[in-house]
Amino acid sequence: MGGSTGPVWVFAEQSDGSVLPVSLELTGQARKLADELGTSLEVIFLGDAVRENTQILFNAGADKVYLGEHPDLKFYQSERYMQIIVKLAQEHQPEIFLLGSTATGKELAPLVAAKLKTGLTAHCIDLTLDQEKRLEQIIPAYGGLISIVCPEKRPQMATIAKGVFLKPDTSEPKQGELVLLEIGNEQDQRIELLNVVYEETEGVPLESAAVVVAGGAGAKDLEGWQQIVDLADEMGAALGSTRPPVDEGWVELDRMIGQSGKMVAPELYIGVGLSGELQHMVGITGAKLMVAVNSEPKAPVFEQVDYGIVDDCREFLPVLIENIKAYKADKA
Ligand SMILES: Cc1cc2nc3c(=O)[nH]c(=O)nc-3n(C[C@H](O)[C@H](O)[C@H](O)COP(=O)(O)OP(=O)(O)OC[C@H]3O[C@@H](n4cnc5c(N)ncnc54)[C@H](O)[C@@H]3O)c2cc1C
Repeated sequence: MGGSTGPVWVFAEQSDGSVLPVSLELTGQARKLADELGTSLEVIFLGDAVRENTQILFNAGADKVYLGEHPDLKFYQSERYMQIIVKLAQEHQPEIFLLGSTATGKELAPLVAAKLKTGLTAHCIDLTLDQEKRLEQIIPAYGGLISIVCPEKRPQMATIAKGVFLKPDTSEPKQGELVLLEIGNEQDQRIELLNVVYEETEGVPLESAAVVVAGGAGAKDLEGWQQIVDLADEMGAALGSTRPPVDEGWVELDRMIGQSGKMVAPELYIGVGLSGELQHMVGITGAKLMVAVNSEPKAPVFEQVDYGIVDDCREFLPVLIENIKAYKADKA
């Protein structure tokens, strides 16, 4: 393993020491890329006393894990993490480097890319190799999907959201090489992260929801948005959104579905007052049954869903909610 092509790298992010699902998903996809390139798959794992959690990375396909342990690394520290990774990358010259499109990854990836003077494609929705074995980084843009390659600089870097790739089977114990990094005390950091406080998410979590009700700009105002919230509540569904309701301040960013938001895979997705822009729709490709409500019969969303309802959502939603209430009362 490991010819003239540099290794494929993944940054494995942890929370309370456990590897995040997105990092395992990336490790699974990186395994395929490494095999196609005929090179090794190596994972960087930083934290405090996290050694016992490295096995899952081998099980997911890593040939080698660079493990950095230090009390300072318990939480993500931008400068510290960046410096460790940049030094390693300069020594080992990876061909490809993948990070999760998480709060950490979104900051760490550009810091590392800038230091290594290489490119970075954010929020990819697929990763393949082209005929010249260059990484094709697929993103939605210009009303379709485009493929970005980084022809000269290395590593080829990309961030990818949770749910884009399937989680690999990690049930079978596999072996690999564990490389312990020497992490010294560092006095000279300009930024020190002292604590992390986890926000309580209200309502049903999007990623695991069986039913998702997502609203868009067609809600028009906060009152219209509230109807979408009411529908989600009445159905016991998770609330999702497109970009405009977030920009309007009707809903938090963590409810946005799509390329730069979350990926969802519910049994039922209902999109209300949204046009069907690819940047949103890539987030719901895993949905089993899709329904859209839009007042414009030619809205592109209708070509992408199973059932379409042409109506003004402000007229339609109160009727739908009343009917659901009546149905529930009948069943009770
Ligand atoms: C790099 C990049 C990343 C992005 N990432 C994301 C992302 O992750 N997620 C995301 O969602 N967007 C993302 N966007 C934005 C995306 O391109 C679209 O602008 C956005 O999804 C459009 O949201 P919308 O469908 O709610 O609004 P619009 O496109 O404005 O559509 C509103 C729809 O509402 C309908 N409507 C109007 N009034 C009513 C009514 N009374 N009743 C029913 N229907 C009505 C209209 O017919 C229209 O179809 C991204 C953009 C870029 C450039």
